[in-house]
Amino acid sequence: MKESPKNPVTLDTLVALCKRRGFIFQTAEIYGGLNGFYDFGHLGTLLKENIRQNWRNSLFNKKGEITFMEGSLIGPEAMWIASGHVQNFHDPMVDCMECKHRFRSDHIDLEKSCPNCGKKNWTEVRTFNMMFKTNIGAAEAHASTGYLRPETAQAIFVNFKNVLSTSRVKIPFGIAQIGKAFRNEITPKQFLFRMREFEQMEMEWFCKAEDAQEMFDFWRQKRLDFYHDLGLDKEKLRLRPHEKDELSHYSSQTDDVEYNFPFGWKELEGIAHRGNYDLTQHTKHAGKDLAVFDEQAKASYVPDVIECSVGSDRLLLTILFDSYKEDTIDGETRNYFAFKPSIAPIKAAFFPLSKKLEEPARAIFDDIRKVVPHIQFDVSGSIGKRYRRQDEIGTPLCFTYDFDSAESNTITVRDRNTTKQERIAIDEILPYIQKVLTS
Ligand SMILES: [Zn+2]
Repeated sequence: MKESPKNPVTLDTLVALCKRRGFIFQTAEIYGGLNGFYDFGHLGTLLKENIRQNWRNSLFNKKGEITFMEGSLIGPEAMWIASGHVQNFHDPMVDCMECKHRFRSDHIDLEKSCPNCGKKNWTEVRTFNMMFKTNIGAAEAHASTGYLRPETAQAIFVNFKNVLSTSRVKIPFGIAQIGKAFRNEITPKQFLFRMREFEQMEMEWFCKAEDAQEMFDFWRQKRLDFYHDLGLDKEKLRLRPHEKDELSHYSSQTDDVEYNFPFGWKELEGIAHRGNYDLTQHTKHAGKDLAVFDEQAKASYVPDVIECSVGSDRLLLTILFDSYKEDTIDGETRNYFAFKPSIAPIKAAFFPLSKKLEEPARAIFDDIRKVVPHIQFDVSGSIGKRYRRQDEIGTPLCFTYDFDSAESNTITVRDRNTTKQERIAIDEILPYIQKVLTS
């Protein structure tokens, strides 16, 4: 007997589970951790790579090519002045004079007392630049200032001409990049939701100004479809257009894909119409022409940009929240991650029913592993316990080699979500896994 699954997860449950099963650890935990930084263990690393792969694949479309690049993490000060980050990338902060706690002043009510100590004694509100600044070069006096990038997008803009002249692409086309970004957040919070070091997946789509509105509409729908395709709960997803006063200085229109987290509706991805702001700024500051020549119109123009920007870590957190399920089987509660198979860190597990069957079961496992590397072999504990271990990390398929397997050349396969089992031929295992992975 199996009852239908529920999704009762809290942030605390997830944090504990992620640590216990080796998805995510606090950075430098043995030194007391580092606020706003996390390390990814084996399962977290595999899960993240699968998310990246799904994201890359989701970008391809019939309107134009997608190219990929990887920029460096540190950029020169001049670039961050041109982008507006040195002048504008600030958060307002305020300190409690009593307990010395620091807050984002737009996150709390300064008419009320301190949420930490209950007294009311605020400093003035000051602004704080969120970029991590560093010195490039050995002798500090001669060193130049560099910044760890607060977004990956600028590397794309400054390489626009390099990509255009070397990739045989025509406008419209996209440049996509996955990489780390750094923001010295005043109050990092909610686990992977707001981190100081995080990974972005950004795609800048270059198009003619007259096509920009159509392209914006195209991408906002395509990006929402991506989350539906990942299997996220449609009821918990929405597109929300920014109000005029929320828009960044460069953007005429921005829509967020939002997810309904246990702590409310929050941004998952931003789709922004940036106009030609960035390329124009870099043209001015670098003194290099970034315009494109239009053969038909016999005139130069600076393309408009539609940006699609999502945090890999935030998406990973969303997938964990959305996939976590609890149900009851024969009166016993089990929890599992209902990951889409292409997202699941471990694709399949192989069990010999008894230790005596280990050798032939392992031979099958070794064969499959040549093609599907991320699978596991488990001989210890009851078969029920072994199923639960795999359920908890979201493995879609478990294969059990039993006492009939040698004679009949068959094996039992169990589905994670339904727990239903069927017998299939041993030489059908690989096509079976491959079919599930592309479903
Ligand atoms: Zn206080």
